[in-house]
Amino acid sequence: MSNLSPNEWAKQVIKQEEIDKYLINGKDFIDEKEIFEKLKNNQNPDKQRIRDILQKSLSIQILDPDETAALLNVKDEELWQEMYETADKIKRMVYDNRVIFFAPLYCSNLCTNGCLYCGFRKDNSEEKRRILNMEEVKKETEVVVDEGHKRMIVVYGEHPLSDADYIADSIKAVYSVKRKAKHGPGYGSIRRVNINAAPMSIDDLHKLWEVGIGTYQVFQETYDHETYKKLHPFGPKSNYRWRLYSLHRALEAGIDDVAIGALFGLNDWRFEVMGLLYHALDLERQFDIGPHTISFPRLNPATGSDFSTNSKYLVNDEDFIKLITVIRLSVPYTGMIVTARERAEIRRKAVKVGCTQMDASTKIGIGAYSESTKEQEEDIQQFMLGDTRKLDDVIRELAQDGLITSFCTAGYRCGRTGDKIMGLLKNCVEGKFCKLNAVLTYKEYLDDYASPETKKLGEKVIREELAEIKNMPFYKEHKLVKTLENYYERISHGERDLYL
Ligand code: SAM
Ligand code: SF4
Repeated sequence: MSNLSPNEWAKQVIKQEEIDKYLINGKDFIDEKEIFEKLKNNQNPDKQRIRDILQKSLSIQILDPDETAALLNVKDEELWQEMYETADKIKRMVYDNRVIFFAPLYCSNLCTNGCLYCGFRKDNSEEKRRILNMEEVKKETEVVVDEGHKRMIVVYGEHPLSDADYIADSIKAVYSVKRKAKHGPGYGSIRRVNINAAPMSIDDLHKLWEVGIGTYQVFQETYDHETYKKLHPFGPKSNYRWRLYSLHRALEAGIDDVAIGALFGLNDWRFEVMGLLYHALDLERQFDIGPHTISFPRLNPATGSDFSTNSKYLVNDEDFIKLITVIRLSVPYTGMIVTARERAEIRRKAVKVGCTQMDASTKIGIGAYSESTKEQEEDIQQFMLGDTRKLDDVIRELAQDGLITSFCTAGYRCGRTGDKIMGLLKNCVEGKFCKLNAVLTYKEYLDDYASPETKKLGEKVIREELAEIKNMPFYKEHKLVKTLENYYERISHGERDLYL
């Protein structure tokens, strides 16, 4: 842990040379003028052009900025309908009919930054500050594991007390929790710990790699330099480029899976979708790896933040579904996350146009899983949630729609990360492995944690999945059906954590 005061600490965070090395001729990859020109030059695209672009998306190739700009300019509602359907089709090609679940864990709301939209910002005197110690991190994790989760995203403010050493310790603490499963000799645990934390130096990021970080996620919030400057008045986060290249540094530090995102509501949504595309393209250009996931949180009301309710760029539900669709079509191989910030009916729609991951049973107050009462929760959370349903309820709803819930973390543990997983995703192979692992982890969930009603519906989904798997040539050719049947049988008898 650092001995510096928060102010002194904040001043030494940024390493200019770890920005400059990624610039091209001194410039970063966001050129507002170019983006606005592309949006302008691709107005009123004709139907055939859009259909050609959809064919390119269907071949699982990332689009170029002119193509994405054309999609963003579509006005014809019938054409949007085709775009929604294509987005769903692509999702099924790459990720099959699965939705992956995770739980967020907020470890600390101490922060040296002044983001105008966030309840955790330094100068928000309404916020009660707290940082979990490692025993508390474990307690929170126990509750999450007992709910049935296997993946977690851990979230931190930017502060010397929650620096890279603290983050590394908390990752270890989460992995250390083992809870006896309800059936058989196995146990429940978090098998993949992802992180949403401030940009760090390559050395600090390497510390996180050493303790087995899953995905490292940093949202740029807004890609517009000027808007960024206004909304981040002080602290390390006020440096746009330090943040813009945080994931470049992560890849250089050995972290294979990186996740980008923009906070929608800070600026024009079409511009931000273009920004996300340019970010994905630059990661591909410099590292041959695109983003493992893309997030598109919408600004929610936060305590002590007038901006969070008054912004003129707040995105309505219809545009929100449109922007998700365009992201799915533009970066067809990427995972896409829709969080419990959104209401249940919006999340359901988001899954139908390409989302692959969501959270449930979510609590975002510090210590809220293991301690809080309802009133405390309202007091301590960063912003208000839109969907507070239990994991079991969300899984049941998806099962009713014929979707399978996956807790699979096998890709990561079998070395299918980074450029390897990118290749598999682009060739629609990863989805095939995931389909098997989804069945196995779903079975674990249904046996250990599901309500009787969810179990009944879930078992129907499993029967349909197994029938489909047995008929698919890929599985026969690779002799995977027998292994699957063997693992399935063993899990039914209480073994846990078997994967392909
Ligand atoms: N402090 C780190 C950072 O800013 O990168 C990570 C934690 S921060 C709490 C995680 C994310 O919460 C931010 O990147 C931002 O996009 C999102 N966020 C902040 N205020 C929000 C609000 N009012 N509504 C929705 N999301 C918000
Ligand atoms: Fe701090 Fe992150 Fe909130 Fe900004 S968004 S105030 S950096 S926790």
